[in-house]
Amino acid sequence: MQVQPKVEQRVNPFDCKHFINGQYMASKSGKTFDNINPATQEVLGRVCEGGKEEIDLAVAAARRALNGPWKKMSTHDRISVIRRIGDIILERKEELARLESLDTGKPYWLASTIDIPRSAYNFHFFADYLRGIGTEAYQTDDIALNYSIRRPVGVVGLITPWNLPLLLLTWKLAPCLAAGNTAVIKPAELTPMTATVLAEICREAGVPDGVVNIVHGFGPDSAGSALTEHPDVDAISFTGETVTGKIIMRAAAQSLKKLSYELGGKNPNIIFADADLDEVVETTLKSSFINQGEVCLCGSRVYVERPVYEAFLEKFVARTKELVVGDPFDPNTKVGALIGEEHYQRVTGYIQLAKEEGGQILTGGRRPEGLDKGYYLEPTIIVGLNRNCRVVREEIFGPVVTVLPFDSEEEVIAQANDTHYGLSASIWTNDLRRAHRVAGQIEAGIVWVNTWFLRDLRTPFGGMKQSGIGREGGIHSFEFFTELTNVCIKL
Ligand code: NAD
Repeated sequence: MQVQPKVEQRVNPFDCKHFINGQYMASKSGKTFDNINPATQEVLGRVCEGGKEEIDLAVAAARRALNGPWKKMSTHDRISVIRRIGDIILERKEELARLESLDTGKPYWLASTIDIPRSAYNFHFFADYLRGIGTEAYQTDDIALNYSIRRPVGVVGLITPWNLPLLLLTWKLAPCLAAGNTAVIKPAELTPMTATVLAEICREAGVPDGVVNIVHGFGPDSAGSALTEHPDVDAISFTGETVTGKIIMRAAAQSLKKLSYELGGKNPNIIFADADLDEVVETTLKSSFINQGEVCLCGSRVYVERPVYEAFLEKFVARTKELVVGDPFDPNTKVGALIGEEHYQRVTGYIQLAKEEGGQILTGGRRPEGLDKGYYLEPTIIVGLNRNCRVVREEIFGPVVTVLPFDSEEEVIAQANDTHYGLSASIWTNDLRRAHRVAGQIEAGIVWVNTWFLRDLRTPFGGMKQSGIGREGGIHSFEFFTELTNVCIKL
């Protein structure tokens, strides 16, 4: 089949509408809500609030599309369409980066160097991956031959958070489409703009109507719960808070949907005395404060071996004080605004709690001077807390880290694992044997040694314990987005 791209008038992302069956549309109820710019607290635009009615329409469109031209499209053409989505994202990089920065409060340079290029790469990567994917075959002596067929799961609900809106959405949508599924997307209510534009990009790239649908709205009693409760949705891929994951699991149980979960984290960053301290400090600045600390992989619990504890703190505090907090569109800004009022109250509440728990704030903890509007917070380093403090145990998801000393390998492994989370960890040491030894004992889905956030998209990504269920990336994404049928032939 020849792919026919449709180029139409550009969508207005400041007036976010649903995208159902290839068309933008308002809510049946006419309900909308404000989209707030976290850096200025001003209204950026309006967002249509969807509910059961819009979800019903979107799921029906996705079900029809599953058996339409999308199913008949050759793998070669599907790869071209998916690659083209990535190409158009790159062509519209500045525009998308601007929208992402306005929506989230993150620095524009961060959106234009990480969020948007990586979103494009998600499509390029999974299109290429599809080219080489196979299945298993087993010969049972001279009795039988077995091989498995891979087919789409069906209609998949994709529910995403606000911290890396387009990056995390495309990380799900690209393999979802590569595997031949259709999607109903519920973007985070706080960051609806790039998802709205992505729908237009998919249409322009040649994705048939009904294959990608977007319904805006909230979680509980809104578009989110309507999607997770819908009996004709086959699977849900969710990234967000652990607490929300538990609610979705209950809703999805009614029709036993397949689930993929990427949830919260409270990740340890373990620094042994033999590590290269300057390199450690520079990477720890990133793993603590990049994207305002609003990254699930942030190393918010820093453990430092006692001989270098003071030296590390001195350098880390000094470098943290140099980080410029402010206007996301200023190229010098390193830390932008937190996502919104509720989250700001929550994060600053933890700083207050740290003081009550006996912690000492070495730097930060306040709104920066001269920034009266916007959800700005100085990057914050806290010491003097122990492993039982709530600030050390609970996910804060802001520019706040605790630093604790340790005396032995056994002790730090025990502390690192003393949490119900298990997403990621970093270990800093030049002792090769210790690096392997400790990495194998940390209860986390991802362990970095002498680095952080270095990603190869073929590798398994995800958390253990209450940080997630299943893995994404490479074959792991395909395992979730496909069903296998084993065919056994008696010889
Ligand atoms: P959240 O759980 O509040 O919301 C995530 C999404 O779920 C939103 O679209 C929201 O509208 C929807 N939702 C909320 N309640 C729902 C319900 N009852 N039914 C259906 N949908 C519902 O999370 P958030 O505040 O947007 O994101 C921050 C969290 O996400 C943090 O805990 C962070 O660690 C986690 N996160 C994890 C990863 C990962 O890969 N493990 C990546 C990014 C963020």
